[in-house]
Amino acid sequence: MKNGLRFVNFHYLCRLYKNITVMPNPKWRFSKTRTRKRRTHDKLDVPQISSCSNCGSPTLYHHVCPECGYYRGKQAIVVGASA
Ligand SMILES: [Zn+2]
Repeated sequence: MKNGLRFVNFHYLCRLYKNITVMPNPKWRFSKTRTRKRRTHDKLDVPQISSCSNCGSPTLYHHVCPECGYYRGKQAIVVGASA
């Protein structure tokens, strides 16, 4: 076989020729724990929804109410008006 040695495991060769010493190599770059710790933050979160103080419709926090245009008890925008 012409290129047979190319596919032989390097550590297998080192076991054959025992005068060659090999430094220990980690099998995985990251541990399972480290991978899982990183992936705890790879998730979607549910948006926090409050209700409008003026009309009671569900709104996002720190956002103008899309139904009536109120924000913190004041008329912030006029809903339905084109810019
Ligand atoms: Zn509202």
